[in-house]
Amino acid sequence: MDKIKMTTPLVEMDGDEMTRILWKMIKDELLYPFIDLKTEYYDLGLEYRNETDDKVTVDSALATKKYGVAVKCATITPNAARMTEYNLKEMWKSPNGTIRAILDGTVFRAPIIVKGVDPTVRTWKKPITIARHAYGDVYKGTEMKIPGAGKAELVFTAEDGTETRELIHDFDGAGIIQGMHNVSKSIESFARSCFNYALDTKQDLWFSTKDTISKKYDHTFKDIFQDIYDAEYDARFKEAGIEYFYTLIDDAVARVIRSEGGYIWACKNYDGDVMSDMVATAFGSLAMMTSVLVSPDGNYEYEAAHGTVQRHYYKHLAGEETSTNSVATIFAWTGALRKRGELDGISELVCFANKLEKATIDTIESGKMTKDLALITTLPEVTILNSENFIKEIRVTLEKSYEK
Ligand code: NAP
Ligand code: MG
Repeated sequence: MDKIKMTTPLVEMDGDEMTRILWKMIKDELLYPFIDLKTEYYDLGLEYRNETDDKVTVDSALATKKYGVAVKCATITPNAARMTEYNLKEMWKSPNGTIRAILDGTVFRAPIIVKGVDPTVRTWKKPITIARHAYGDVYKGTEMKIPGAGKAELVFTAEDGTETRELIHDFDGAGIIQGMHNVSKSIESFARSCFNYALDTKQDLWFSTKDTISKKYDHTFKDIFQDIYDAEYDARFKEAGIEYFYTLIDDAVARVIRSEGGYIWACKNYDGDVMSDMVATAFGSLAMMTSVLVSPDGNYEYEAAHGTVQRHYYKHLAGEETSTNSVATIFAWTGALRKRGELDGISELVCFANKLEKATIDTIESGKMTKDLALITTLPEVTILNSENFIKEIRVTLEKSYEK
């Protein structure tokens, strides 16, 4: 077959450690043989971030704004140990944080479902996508320990100097207080990202907060979502045959467990942090979790939800065999290629993305998988493959699907 041609480049953000090794294998085995791959390459590996004073991360985010679609490999967020390991000039910020600050938007995380890796929750048949608001609340909170008796108040001083006060508590002994905030603009862009993603993926959107108790704070989230929905999305949702549904967080949790999946669950920052770990674990494996950042003005950045799999990388460096699961990284590529194909009207590219995803799932369902899945699968006959052979097996399945 002729290689598939692309018109607009994908923004390619390379990364670190074991996922950097997988990245190259995926391109060599699964992409180059089939596509005339067009990318604008940014090396977000820690060495080059350090060399460029992290400018490369900013440049890659700006390129995403320009072209609209990026695919990112997992990257190291430096800590003290990494400062010495990589001899860094500075403890560079998390690349994902930097990219998110430039693109704005919401991160959607969805599990990849395969037969033989069963969710802990029996009723779950389809993926549950968590959309986590990534700004404010307790993550930007201010806290105080109260040493003894006294009065704590919330004070807002307007630009003209007028003060509004609200009593928090009259303490008669020691205690604690916390102040947190959010901004309407961020909640609005969170809402639009969620509505757009629901339309994009043709899935219902659920949103939940604790508005019965938090009558101003959480209620504002509820109101902003509802106002934007009524004004901009109601007709489009009806046309797409999908639903927007708001409910109290406790009710949402109960419904999620009873559901069969197949919807997006939008959560405030803290709820999303906690619930995404619960949902990921209950679906089986972090290595089967995809992640996409969707900005309010329609830019997309696809990646795997897991990190650089450092422990496997050290084994790899020591010359030992690894069996690292590349599925989420493959799906980051297919997500980005499909979106590029849709935006540029290249149906072969969309078709390729679908075929590669199916080949990946079929390979696992035929019993050929990496060790992490072999440990949890219910399939009776399993062959454990190393990192490279698993990708090669997917290529065999993919080639067969093109012969048919
Ligand atoms: P991690 O890379 O997600 O790996 C944690 C453990 O989970 C691994 O040791 C492995 O368990 C298992 N695992 C994760 N992905 C796997 C895969 N694809 N195949 C097989 N097993 C997998 O998290 P980490 O070790 O805490 O973090 C390593 C580095 O990644 C850190 O420097 C961190 O900053 C970075 N990080 C980056 C991102 C990102 O770029 N989005 C996200 C998170 C972390 P076993 O060792 O038991 O096999
Ligand atoms: Mg968490």
